[in-house]
Order: sequence, then structure tokens, then C-alpha cells
Amino acid sequence: MDLDLVFLGTSGSVPTARRGLAGTLVRRGGERILVDCGEGTQRQLLKSSVGLVELPEVFVTHYHADHYLGLPGMLKTFALRGREVPLTVYGPPGLRSLFSALERIFGKLTYEVELVELRDGEMLDRGDYRIVVFRVEHAVGANGYAFVELPRPGRFDVDAAEALGVEAGPLFGRLQAGEPVQLADGTTVAPEQVLGDPRPGRTIVLAGDTAPAATVLEVAQGADLLVHEATFAEEERTRADETAHSTAAGAARLASAAGVRMLALTHLSNRYFGPEIAREARAIFPGTVVPRDFDIIDVRFPERGGPRLVKSGARPTREEGEPHGGDGSGEGGRRPLGGGGDPGDPPLGGDPVGAPARGRAASGGSR
Ligand SMILES: [Zn+2]
Ligand SMILES: [Zn+2]
Repeated sequence: MDLDLVFLGTSGSVPTARRGLAGTLVRRGGERILVDCGEGTQRQLLKSSVGLVELPEVFVTHYHADHYLGLPGMLKTFALRGREVPLTVYGPPGLRSLFSALERIFGKLTYEVELVELRDGEMLDRGDYRIVVFRVEHAVGANGYAFVELPRPGRFDVDAAEALGVEAGPLFGRLQAGEPVQLADGTTVAPEQVLGDPRPGRTIVLAGDTAPAATVLEVAQGADLLVHEATFAEEERTRADETAHSTAAGAARLASAAGVRMLALTHLSNRYFGPEIAREARAIFPGTVVPRDFDIIDVRFPERGGPRLVKSGARPTREEGEPHGGDGSGEGGRRPLGGGGDPGDPPLGGDPVGAPARGRAASGGSR
């Protein structure tokens, strides 16, 4: 079963040219679950190889604007496309009151939206995995979400099965599924006789915005992947404490104490670029990555190598017929500063946008 995370927005509070606001897509088999939907998330999806699919579920961690402002726009787009598939939005208590305000923005929809408020300790049963809700430590009530797979059956011992007289074929499958089978001679073979010890499933923890919290430490014990915020570096520890955010070092200490396989840091303040956050965290917890927008973390089973970062894994290859990447993604930063105007332009010596506007206003006054 494939399990991965697509990072759609990795900036905290405000977007930057390179990093969008909070949005992470969890993909498990055919399921698509969006966690947080900051402003611009629908466009990040459109720009990614995922596309703006009709997501059935959105989980919001808390009601700071950088985590939900993308919802009204995305819900509206779905309606304009005539969506009929219902959508469920989950979030901490306060979700209904938030939506009574947002409804004025997106108006009438073509599909049902169900709102589910989730409290600390609640668990959503999804068959072979669970979504565990836990409270984190932030300036407002905030949930983290853990995706916890149930243990998998142990490895099937073909030799043992054949020695017991089980023939290869459908009986193998039933034993593997945990069912006892009866052989032609009337003997019964129990699954325990041919299966090894159950193997653990995978756990990924999305903590959302939080100071280093005991609840996260607990739920992340031995997790395959912990996605944790690192809004600040340790030099801004005081600010992190005041705003109930974490530093890279703080998140790394927690990851180390929890014994996770991989720590992914996100929600970076716009004064950081990533490498400095990674350096600080790796000195404490070497298994740290700092994903950029459109990176993927492929959460493989431990025996297949565990989680790995796939850089630009969700960035589509340039569409055909688009000269020099004309979709505008990420190229803006390379344009020469100062607007690259005509050589004849007057030296403005200031804001290249504001200065000509002032000039026009002055000439307009003579009319
Ligand atoms: Zn935030
Ligand atoms: Zn927040």
C-alpha cells in the first residue's frame, strides 16, 4: 500500500515567493486527505502533478488564517465545476462558527459539506488504519493528527505451509488473511502455524502549529514520520515561546526523544530559507529533512527502506508548448531586480513600481 505526503505549502504565517501557506496532502492507496488549506492551496494543487482533485476530506489543525483561508476559494471552485461529491471538513471545536462566517464568502454550493468537530483523544476508524486526534500547545485550540496503520499480518512461511500439506493457491491467500483452512484429509491448519509475528504498520504524525508538546512526544513514539513545525531557529527561542511555536532545535529534541525514523520540518518563518533550519535540527537529530513546496515524502515500510524525501516529486514536468516555463511557477525570483526597464528610463533610485506612479500623478494634475 503506497503512503506518501505531498507538501503543498511549507511557509508559516505569510507566503514567500518560494513557499506557500500550510497544506499537506496525505495519499494512501487511492485515498486523498488534505491537512490544512492555507490561502493558495488550490493553486498549489493545480500546479502540482496531483491536480485539483475532488478531495473528499479536509482536516484543519486550527483556525489561524494561514491554515484555512484557502478553503472558501477551493470550495467555490468545486461548486463552479458543478461538484456533486460531498466534502467533509474536520477541525477542532469552533469549526461550525468559522463556517457560518465563511458561508457568506463562498455562498451556495452544489454539494454537501459536512462539518465534524474533533476533540483530543478522538479516533476515526478507517478499517486498516486510524486517524488519532491529539491536542497540541498553541495560542489557540489546535489539533494534531496521526495516521496510524494497524499491524500487518506476519510474513507467510511457504515452507512451513507446504510441510503441513497446504497446496499453493487459494488456501495460501486465506491463511495469509488470518483464516484457518481445512485440508482434503480433514486436518485444519491455523494461520499462526504458517505466519510469523505481526509486523507493525506505519505511523505518520502531523503536529501542526505547536510548541514542543508532551502530547506530540507521546503520539510520535517510534513513528515512521513526524511532520513538525520549525517556525524559528534557536536564536529566536523567546519569540517561539511567546507565540507557542517551535524552533528547529526544539522540534529535533522532541523527534530524538520520540525515536522517530524521520523528522520533516515545515511552517518556516519567512526570514529562513531552509538550510539553516536543517543544519540546526540535524546537529541534534540527523534524520531531519526540510521539504520545499512540491516535495514528497514517500513513507515506505521499514523493510523497504523507510521514509525518503523525493525532491520536487509532485512538480510536473513542463507542459508541452509552453515556452520557457511560462506557468510562472518559481521563475519570478530570477528576474533582474529593478524591473529591467528600457535604457532610456529615468534613473528612479527607489521603488520601481511606486516612483513612476508618482510621476503620472504629477502630470495628471495639469489637466
Ligand atoms: Zn500557522
Ligand atoms: Zn497557528
